[in-house]
Amino acid sequence: MPDLYAVIGNPIAHSKSPEIHARFAQEAGQVMQYTRLLAPLDSFATTVQKFIEEGAKGANVTVPFKLDAYALATILTDRAEAAGAVNTLKFDGDTILGDNTDGIGLVTDIVRNAGVGLTGKRILLLGAGGAARGALLPLLQTQPSQLVLANRTLAKAEDLAQQIALNFPNEARITTCEFADLQDQFDIVINATSASLQADVPPIPPHVFGVSTLAYDMMYGQQPTVFMQFASAHGASVRDGLGMLVEQAAEAFFVWRGVRPQTADVYAALRAQL
Ligand code: NDP
Repeated sequence: MPDLYAVIGNPIAHSKSPEIHARFAQEAGQVMQYTRLLAPLDSFATTVQKFIEEGAKGANVTVPFKLDAYALATILTDRAEAAGAVNTLKFDGDTILGDNTDGIGLVTDIVRNAGVGLTGKRILLLGAGGAARGALLPLLQTQPSQLVLANRTLAKAEDLAQQIALNFPNEARITTCEFADLQDQFDIVINATSASLQADVPPIPPHVFGVSTLAYDMMYGQQPTVFMQFASAHGASVRDGLGMLVEQAAEAFFVWRGVRPQTADVYAALRAQL
């Protein structure tokens, strides 16, 4: 019987995770079964418990259960603690390890796939929702010269920065500001708002972009997003979040299997399907 994994969410039919992990398993020569699991909105913990009883070794967790998974885990990694959310569970006896691989997926896609180093760079992160929160600690750990967090609701950005400073006092500080108060140009501008979903661009001044800026939108799709179009019109290079999706999955695969899968072919296959 192959080791059993699933992606748990509600809804779940749209998830690309089974395809991604099936390709990883084939490429890495790992024997495993990975399915979709629809959990009722009020029964996440029961669904996970039943899955563990069936012999499951781990799971990915998606909308709307990342906070439930955080609450259910008996051990949390630092990056899950910093994110306040869990997207990867690993089951081992009575232990449920909760991890969050979204932020490291973003960093890997920028550094390795896009070939853009983050150490010593000025980074602007837009948004203070779940995706931004997951990205903060992995971004700080690359040791940028500056990390500015800007959000439509400033208080949410300030709360996030304060929590990271309290829980991870050895990391560098995050600066917060309103979109309209952004004065400088940045090396990397990451859009972690959900504005692109409504074909909207956060109201940031165009001078944050320059010809050496990488503008990264966590959203992905067939066309460049409106944020990518805006950044491109002001000289920046652009990249969407498809690579982040693939790399967060690769990191989860590594957490479970101890093997790091190649991601280039999976990325190309998903890109061709868009
Ligand atoms: P949340 O709902 O948790 O957060 C939304 C954020 O967007 C908030 O900061 C909100 O600001 C801001 N926002 C929403 N609309 C606007 C707008 N019109 N103008 C400016 N700011 C706006 O969403 P998530 O953090 O979960 O997701 C954010 C994005 O990241 C989505 O596009 C999602 O698809 C993408 N994502 C991609 C992943 C990948 O693997 N590529 C993984 C995870 C997410 P406020 O606080 O003021 O409400």
